[in-house]
Amino acid sequence: MRNHMTPLDMTAPRDGQIRQLADDLFWFRFTLPFRLNHINLFALETTEGWLLLDCGINTESNAKQWPAILTQLQAQKPIAGIIVSHHHADHVGYVGTLAGITDAPVFMGAREYEEAALLLDYSDKEAADISGDAYANFGLSNIDIDHRRDRGNYFRSLVGDLPQVQIIQSGHGFQTIAGTWKVRFDAGHSPGHMSLMDHARHLYICVDFLLPRISPNISVALRNPDHDVLADYLSYLEEMRRLDDKWLVIPGHDWPFYGGAPRALELIAHHETRLGQLLDAGRPLTTRGAMELLFPFELTDHEIYFASCEARAHLNHLITRNKMRKSTNGGIAFFSSM
Ligand SMILES: [Zn+2]
Repeated sequence: MRNHMTPLDMTAPRDGQIRQLADDLFWFRFTLPFRLNHINLFALETTEGWLLLDCGINTESNAKQWPAILTQLQAQKPIAGIIVSHHHADHVGYVGTLAGITDAPVFMGAREYEEAALLLDYSDKEAADISGDAYANFGLSNIDIDHRRDRGNYFRSLVGDLPQVQIIQSGHGFQTIAGTWKVRFDAGHSPGHMSLMDHARHLYICVDFLLPRISPNISVALRNPDHDVLADYLSYLEEMRRLDDKWLVIPGHDWPFYGGAPRALELIAHHETRLGQLLDAGRPLTTRGAMELLFPFELTDHEIYFASCEARAHLNHLITRNKMRKSTNGGIAFFSSM
């Protein structure tokens, strides 16, 4: 087994460019208006046409990046389908418009479809109440709570209406001109995230689960702040640490690489370090306190959301491991070492 990652020797596609990764697999990249400033999108070639994988967010900037790609693809074949890996805004946001433009069927896993539909359905008031309650339970300041409440349904500002979707089951195979991409679903970064594996060619489009540079965000959902999502993710990483060196791992952000197993080990170590930091605090922690330990720098409102939900995920996992216990005082959850 190799003990480190090796990036694929290929520069990332520039704006409007399409790069070929395999006989049937093409890669392009859109810019995003976040700290994570881009997303990798893909097209798989089938005999009927192209299967697109993921869509970008529902913004004007994203809309402007599709025509250059669609023109090149459609000059050869029609768009035969759109696969959405998971419900996060950068992957699902533009699917409604894209399905309208291409008249192509949309394929999603049931769990992520439900999640996207649920989040879109909240009124601003409902979204504000759910996030306000969670932030209060986290022990965040009234200013942070009010800022979050003022956003209303933030998800809806990045995600358009969902089209009709064909639900895909685990183990489904997308047949292309060069092989079969088997669908798997994993929980952790999101609850039923779809990724695609071609076992004959050792190609794994892991989307957001095995990123080479950053640690995928592992966050509790605001409506369900006690769920141990980190346990789900660690069990995925335990499986990936046995991934053979032959596999090319193709992620939704940054670059394709060999060495999924050493990357899984690094990510396991990263989370173990964070769990250790929280245990070493030596005092009862609120979620806010845990966030300030793990992310000891100035955070924007957007970052407070990710950082607090990720801190809580680690606290919840320490409960599962019987290292901490939770008590609630004045509506705020406190976590103390056992
Ligand atoms: Zn994601």
